[in-house]
Amino acid sequence: MTIKNFINNQDHIPLSGMWLDNYEPATGKIYGEIPNSNEDDVERAVQAAEEAFPAWSQTSIDERSKIMLRIADLIEEELNELAVAESKDNGKPLWLAKAVDIPRASSNFRFYGNAITQYASKSHESVGKNTINFTLRKPIGVVGCISPWNLPLYLFTWKIAPAIAAGNCVIAKPSEVTPATAYLLGKIVERAGLPAGVLNIVHGMGASCGSAIVKHPKIKAISFTGGTTTGAAIAAQAAPMFKKLSLELGGKNPNLIFADCDYEKMLDTTVRSSFANQGQICLCGSRIFVEKKIYERFKSGFETKVKELKVGNPADASTKVGALVSQQHLEKVESYIAFAKANPKEYAILSGGSRVTVKDFEEGYYLEPTVIEVSSNDCKLNQEEIFGPVVTIMPFEDEQEALKLANSTRYGLSSTLWTSDLNRCMRLSNAMESGIVWVNTWLNRDLRTPFGGVKDSGVGREGGFEALDFFTEPKNVCIEY
Ligand code: NAD
Repeated sequence: MTIKNFINNQDHIPLSGMWLDNYEPATGKIYGEIPNSNEDDVERAVQAAEEAFPAWSQTSIDERSKIMLRIADLIEEELNELAVAESKDNGKPLWLAKAVDIPRASSNFRFYGNAITQYASKSHESVGKNTINFTLRKPIGVVGCISPWNLPLYLFTWKIAPAIAAGNCVIAKPSEVTPATAYLLGKIVERAGLPAGVLNIVHGMGASCGSAIVKHPKIKAISFTGGTTTGAAIAAQAAPMFKKLSLELGGKNPNLIFADCDYEKMLDTTVRSSFANQGQICLCGSRIFVEKKIYERFKSGFETKVKELKVGNPADASTKVGALVSQQHLEKVESYIAFAKANPKEYAILSGGSRVTVKDFEEGYYLEPTVIEVSSNDCKLNQEEIFGPVVTIMPFEDEQEALKLANSTRYGLSSTLWTSDLNRCMRLSNAMESGIVWVNTWLNRDLRTPFGGVKDSGVGREGGFEALDFFTEPKNVCIEY
């Protein structure tokens, strides 16, 4: 498949004249090419967005909502085609793309198509001063949305939907590693009747295309999801230009398991929260801490279940763990396993740890789900984000120690807590340093809730009206009568 930039509702080959190979993780083979766009391509997209903005920002809420709901319907209609493209591009199991990624992309448009009809501004009466204030929420103008490779269409649309619902025009860049469904989205929005120039999709590397978006003076806000190091580079570039920034970054999420939990539910969910999407979800619980009383029971029960997970061809319905997203990422994840193997005093590999050769897909990027016992939370594998099918486990004595372990990291995206003690649940939920706390569940999402992290996991929140707040500027009007 040859992917092109989508600008003004038309395909464009890149002005840069440069192309990148696109790999299929399941086979390790090149299966297409994508533009490596530069600032000229971004400029072309910005011009289209600027031209579209006056009309789009004045389009009635009803009309905007109708178009967004049509986009949601079309994504649903094309679920199969989109899921196949997502699985091929990313290496994730096809059933997962069908059950989660693509339905969620549709929900993102449906949710914000509805949310915008309920989004209201405030007024403040200054009693005794014959004064009324009302606050308008104005769309910002042209905004940039930059997303990662792990949940490609899901996270891409999570930004685009609130941005256009609020009346902005968008320059969006998906990850260069997984561009396929973003390209297909262009065709869908055009068919749904989104006016030309409202959504412009440019493809390419972060250093060229992404950076050109961040530094373009006419792009007034950047919504970014990706790694913490990239987030820091974007913040450094955008801050002197006083751009609005929403940064959703990395995580090293703790999973605290107490002896009083619903054991079977916890065990099944912990297998999922460790290895879903090959462990490549920013919300995966990669540091598992277990109360000493049940540590040995958990260790053997978890190991047994993890060994049952079938690694294989993503298109196969029985596959639980597909291919990692790229050769480069596979090597990065493997480097952590090699480090653990080289330091046996600190680490014991309980299961996994090796590449998997899948018949007829020998060049694919397959890795066993890996469980490593660690002796301290200060170790490298507990402090650095691995973002693959690797989790660590270690025991804790009591609640106080568990809390300390959970919070001893630079990250603060999400945490998971397993207990049936309501008081403990309240104490720990309050004290855990993360933007999201799940209790006796995981990845349970209501799109109205604020989504994001604290510490080095980011700045700002997505979701619900928070994203509409981000994509609008408040303007207060004060009238004395
Ligand atoms: P990444 O930071 O390498 O890339 C993310 C996006 O930024 C890509 O589109 C990339 O091309 C672009 N980019 C790279 N350098 C850039 C630059 N200098 N200027 C502008 N854009 C640039 O991240 P990744 O490897 O694609 O994704 C994995 C990371 O994303 C992990 O750290 C994971 O935790 C994080 N993530 C966070 C969330 C969240 O909601 N907090 C969700 C998913 C993934």
